[in-house]
Amino acid sequence: MDFKQYIADVPDFPEEGIVFRDISPLMADGEAYREATRQIVEYAKGKGVEMIVGPEARGFIVGCPVANELGIGFAPCRKKGKLPRETVEVSYGLEYGNDILQLHKDAIKPGQKVLITDDLLATGGTIAATIELVEKLGGEVVGAAFFIELADLKGRDKIEGYDIFKLMTY
Ligand code: AMP
Repeated sequence: MDFKQYIADVPDFPEEGIVFRDISPLMADGEAYREATRQIVEYAKGKGVEMIVGPEARGFIVGCPVANELGIGFAPCRKKGKLPRETVEVSYGLEYGNDILQLHKDAIKPGQKVLITDDLLATGGTIAATIELVEKLGGEVVGAAFFIELADLKGRDKIEGYDIFKLMTY
């Protein structure tokens, strides 16, 4: 499937100079969304994934249907102050801005094989922070899956040694 036909390219959003790759047309198409999910499910099966963790908000969109299809759990990674119970946290840099991400302390069991999901790999800051959180809790990150990789931003250099799966590259 040519997934790129379902991505809307929005110049100068949310700041001048950034081309925002909007995945909402892909989600809006039932067949495309299901096929994207199916391909990540196949990848996850090959890795023996036991738990999925994704950063808000689009990491949920990618990861939750995959977790559901596999019959495994999903743990949300959220911006500081959103999770109600005890958390671990890390601060991280984005393509546009800085923030703190948190994960509930009981989200991962030590030794669990974890797949991390997000819609898009840009500078890799978000995914590196998510990996750090999972590892703080003793999880084993076996891969990271994205709809899109922005190759020019070299995000994969920031998570060297981790396996990356993506459906599209820009
Ligand atoms: P980064 O931490 O730089 O890899 O940025 C990844 C996060 O920011 C992802 O959660 C994306 O949803 C979002 N993001 C960064 N750049 C873009 C972009 N050009 N288009 C859409 N989303 C983006």
